[in-house]
Amino acid sequence: MSKPIMIVGGGPAGLAAAHALAAFGQPCILVEKEDRLGGAPILEGYAKLVPSGEWARDAIGGMVDRVEAAELIEVRTDTRVSTFTGDAGNFTAGLSNGDSVEVSAAILCTGFTHFDSVNKPEWGFGTYPDVVTTSQVEQMISSGNGVRCLSDGRKPKRVAILLCVGSRDRQIGREWCSKICCTVSANLAMEIREELPDCHVYIYYMDIRTFGLYETKYYWKSQEEFKVKYIKARIAEVTSDGEKLIVKGEDTLVKRPITIPFDLVVHAIGMDPNLDNKEISSVFGVDLEPNGFLDKADSYAATGLTNKTGVFVAGAANGPETIDDSIAQGKAAAMAALEQRQLAARLVG
Ligand SMILES: Cc1cc2nc3c(=O)[nH]c(=O)nc-3n(C[C@H](O)[C@H](O)[C@H](O)COP(=O)(O)OP(=O)(O)OC[C@H]3O[C@@H](n4cnc5c(N)ncnc54)[C@H](O)[C@@H]3O)c2cc1C
Ligand code: SF4
Repeated sequence: MSKPIMIVGGGPAGLAAAHALAAFGQPCILVEKEDRLGGAPILEGYAKLVPSGEWARDAIGGMVDRVEAAELIEVRTDTRVSTFTGDAGNFTAGLSNGDSVEVSAAILCTGFTHFDSVNKPEWGFGTYPDVVTTSQVEQMISSGNGVRCLSDGRKPKRVAILLCVGSRDRQIGREWCSKICCTVSANLAMEIREELPDCHVYIYYMDIRTFGLYETKYYWKSQEEFKVKYIKARIAEVTSDGEKLIVKGEDTLVKRPITIPFDLVVHAIGMDPNLDNKEISSVFGVDLEPNGFLDKADSYAATGLTNKTGVFVAGAANGPETIDDSIAQGKAAAMAALEQRQLAARLVG
C-alpha cells in the first residue's frame, strides 16, 4: 500500500482534501492543532453560511462526520507538525506528541487568523462592550440567544456594521480585501432585521464587494426587502456619550461630516495570515508571499503547488478565500498530490 498523504488543518479545505483522497482509496493522516475538526466555521461558531443559508454546524459538521467515519483517514487532533524532512514520496513528519509518521506528500490547509480588532483602537473595540465583531454576532445567533448589547443584554434598536475592519487598510499593513465580509455583513444585517424588525441597521462601506451572483442575493435584497441602509463613509472614530455609541466620520458621497448614535457597533473583521505561518514556512520549507500567507505557485497545470515538490497548499492558508473556494482548492490539491505520485511511479517503473 502507498504511504499516506498528510493533511495539516481540519477546516473546510482540509476536510475536503481528506475526503477526496479517501474516495480514491488513498490513506491519509489529518493533523489538527485544536481538539476538534471543522476549522473557523465550527471553532468560531458561525451561524448560517453564505451563500447556502445552511447552519455552519450542519454543513461543516456534516463534512466532519464524513471524515471521522472514513476508514482510510486517521485523524490526529491536538497535534502539530514539528519537523518535516525528506523528499517528495518519502517524507518523515515529526509530530508534537512525539510520534513520527512516514508520508508521501503534505497538503497545508492551515487557514487564517481572524483580524484582532484591538489593532483598530479608534473604532472602539476593547473600550466599549457594545462594539463587537461579526464573529461575535454569528455566535449570538448560532447560540440561539439572539443579537443583544453585551453591556446590559438589551435588544439593540440601532446597529452599525463597519466594513473592511482589518482589510484594505494600509495604515495597519493590511492591503488585501478579505473577499467575503461584505456578503457576510449583508447577510447578518438581514438576519438582525428578521429577528428584530424594529431595529435599524446601517452598513458603513468604502466599496461594496458582494461579488458575482451575491450582488442580487445580498446587496440588493438587503436594501429592497430588509430596508438595510448603506452609507458610503470614511469613519474617524467610535466614541460614547455615556448612553449611546457615536460613530463619527465623513459621508463621502455628499462630503459632509456625520455623527450618528447606535446601540451596537459591529466590526466586519477580515482574514489575517495564520499566526503560525512563519513556523509552518520554516518546518515545511515553503515560501510566504509578501503579506504573510503561504505562497502558491502560479500554475494552470495543477492547483495548490508550492515551491517545495510534494508539499501543496489549499484554502485560506494561501489568502482570503470563501468556504466554497477552500473546498474546491482542497479537492484540487488532493488531485494534484495523487497526480504527482502517479507521475513519479511511472518514472520509476
Ligand atoms: C466572520 C467571518 C464569517 C465568515 N462566513 C463565511 C460564510 O458564511 N461563507 C463563506 O464561504 N465563508 C465565510 N467566511 C470565510 C471562511 O471562514 C473561510 O473561507 C474558511 O474557514 C476557510 O477554510 P480553511 O479550511 O481554508 O481554513 P480554516 O477554516 O481557518 O481552517 C484551518 C484549520 O487548520 C488548523 N490549523 C491552523 N494552523 C495549524 C497548525 N499549525 N497545525 C495544525 N492545524 C492547524 C486550524 O485550527 C483550523 O482547524 C467567513 C469568515 C469570517 C472572518
Ligand atoms: S469583502 Fe467588503 S468588507 Fe471585506 S475587505 Fe473586501 S470590501 Fe472590505
